[in-house]
Amino acid sequence: MWDNSLDSRLNKLIPEDRILRDEPMFLHTTFRVGGKAKRFITVREADEFAAVLGMLDDAGAVYSYDGKSSDDRVSYYVIGNGSNLLVSDAGYDGLIIDTSGMNDITVEGDMIIAQAGAMLGKIANTALDNDLKGFEFASGIPGTLGGAVCMNAGAYGGEMKDVITEVTVFDRESQSIKTLTCDEMDFGYRHSVIKNKPYVVLSARIMLTKGQHEEISALMKDYNGRRREKQPLEYPSAGSTFKRPTGFYAGGLIEESGLKGYSVGGAEVSDKHAGFVINKDKATAADIYRLICEVREKVYADTGVRLEPEVVFLGEFA
Ligand SMILES: Cc1cc2nc3c(=O)[nH]c(=O)nc-3n(C[C@H](O)[C@H](O)[C@H](O)COP(=O)(O)OP(=O)(O)OC[C@H]3O[C@@H](n4cnc5c(N)ncnc54)[C@H](O)[C@@H]3O)c2cc1C
Repeated sequence: MWDNSLDSRLNKLIPEDRILRDEPMFLHTTFRVGGKAKRFITVREADEFAAVLGMLDDAGAVYSYDGKSSDDRVSYYVIGNGSNLLVSDAGYDGLIIDTSGMNDITVEGDMIIAQAGAMLGKIANTALDNDLKGFEFASGIPGTLGGAVCMNAGAYGGEMKDVITEVTVFDRESQSIKTLTCDEMDFGYRHSVIKNKPYVVLSARIMLTKGQHEEISALMKDYNGRRREKQPLEYPSAGSTFKRPTGFYAGGLIEESGLKGYSVGGAEVSDKHAGFVINKDKATAADIYRLICEVREKVYADTGVRLEPEVVFLGEFA
């Protein structure tokens, strides 16, 4: 929960116009659902970000998904573009730190160095402008570099782990900046060390190779065309709702269970791509959550396969 006495400490670190009170989270998620965050700030520099994290540590705040701690301490959470988040209708009773203002991208030879809040599409365009290949797979993923590193985002046979050489993180525990190698990132399928260590991503180095401008451009166009053709991009969603279970496709299992087009309130299993739960018509977070639960139950009952959500839940869900 938020403690108003922290407002004055936050004010010393972040200009007033970047401290939003009771900010609707539907404005910051691609599902376009979610209640209010008690406080919402956008950080613009690594130093500013580190100072806020230091202040929160000093105040005994906890990094928390549900905005609750057993001993009523202040909760906080870091987000990128909110493209893999389902925020509850009750919102988040704490501080949300949005990294999208930290978005510098620089090029050094075949290397791109980008801050956590840089959008993958912008990084891909920078790569294209500099005739660098290897990042095309990520060009249509609507997230930030920080979110993509955390999730080891991937598409069309590529994953962040294939191109990342180093990640600079802030360790919330030791309150220090660390540089991790790709090995130390412990990348796996939609997994990285960021998920189980007290780290937040500040920036990363992306190693690419020289390529032909036309080929890079054609590949990006091809991938993005395939997305438009196969995915329900006309509706708000968080992309694939579930991780791919070993040996299966989540969408295939959901379709076999007869759930394509199935809906709860305004949330629907897309009839274009059953792997996507979409906000079809003014869905609430509760509609989406219930639909996800029902899909998991039915698929498990029919096939014995447990679908694990890829989407990250933020706030309290019944
Ligand atoms: C239409 C659509 C298509 C998609 N297609 C794909 C796809 O092809 N492949 C794929 O992998 N994903 C896909 N996604 C999902 C999503 O875009 C990715 O997971 C993306 O990497 C999330 O980035 P984000 O910045 O939006 O992160 P958020 O959704 O804001 O956060 C996701 C997680 O990352 C953490 N995080 C964010 N920034 C930081 C940071 N700086 N430090 C530490 N943790 C951080 C958050 O705490 C949270 O746990 C798609 C989503 C949509 C809506």
